[in-house]
Amino acid sequence: MKLLRKPKTQPNQLLLQLDLFAPEPEQAESPAPPVIPAVDPGPALPSPTVQPPLIVTPAPVVHAAPLPPPVIAAPPVPVNTLVPPPTGRPADGKRRIHLGEHTIDYALLRSKRRTIGFLVSDEGLRVTAPKWVTIAEIDNAIREKQRWILTKLNERRERSARRLQPQMQWRDGATLPYLGNDITLRIRAGQRFGVQLDEQTRELCVSLPGDAGEQQLKDRVQGWLQARAEELFGKRLMIYAEKLGVTYRSYALSSATTQWGSCTADGRIRLNWRLMHFALPLIDYVIAHELAHLREMNHGPQFWATVQSIFPEFESAKRALRDNAPETLPIF
Ligand SMILES: [Zn+2]
Repeated sequence: MKLLRKPKTQPNQLLLQLDLFAPEPEQAESPAPPVIPAVDPGPALPSPTVQPPLIVTPAPVVHAAPLPPPVIAAPPVPVNTLVPPPTGRPADGKRRIHLGEHTIDYALLRSKRRTIGFLVSDEGLRVTAPKWVTIAEIDNAIREKQRWILTKLNERRERSARRLQPQMQWRDGATLPYLGNDITLRIRAGQRFGVQLDEQTRELCVSLPGDAGEQQLKDRVQGWLQARAEELFGKRLMIYAEKLGVTYRSYALSSATTQWGSCTADGRIRLNWRLMHFALPLIDYVIAHELAHLREMNHGPQFWATVQSIFPEFESAKRALRDNAPETLPIF
């Protein structure tokens, strides 16, 4: 989330936007161990003398019944872990560490910093350490932070797995997310355009002329979603504005590709209609978030306390919204 100052707007039109994407790399730090003076190794040992070759005696041949095939116990499947063990050798320049049943490859960067830094991004784990810290000390620091590292790596992997899901096919029988649950598209041939949701069967019936193409279907569905969004967002804004005791000047739908919502200092709120794909608590969170900006035009502790005062469960909604990769939403 960023504080953006638009160059051409009035000074009082400070604009705050709730970013659509937030998969920024996650960072953590550990204090680096102090520099330990090298120990004087003392006088050099005499170089080892060459040992005479060992005489290898062949092992006695034992005649015995062949052993039964060994019962191979499957290793315990760790619960809650998705980090796949890297196979083969670590990629060029990467180091490998074993953490219990996990194997992690990481990139190591030496720097002038005084702490050991951990960064988990889509490229995996990167460790930045001062030049004087040994590999053993780095590995120890990784072990100490392993809970955090494994959690972050799993989150990344889950996110990219969702991104790889196939995109929606625009045809009869296809499903699309609506208020957190899937609805099924039903295409009916007819001269009149019309879209109607059957709440019982959760089918969205779209009437289209027989010669209509995919784009017309998308346009119909998008128009319907936007109409529902306008209605629903308006109601929720009223509820939360009243809870907070604020009034907003106007509200409009946005189709922004980078923000879920925005609010200007003079009370103009914009909400992304694509929020209609999500469950109501996520929509309410964005609405509470934008309204809270009418009190606090920043993202400081006071701001979050304001959000919490009207939407106590904001943390989980915030996380869910961040984890919902926009790439998985239908493309119109
Ligand atoms: Zn904000």
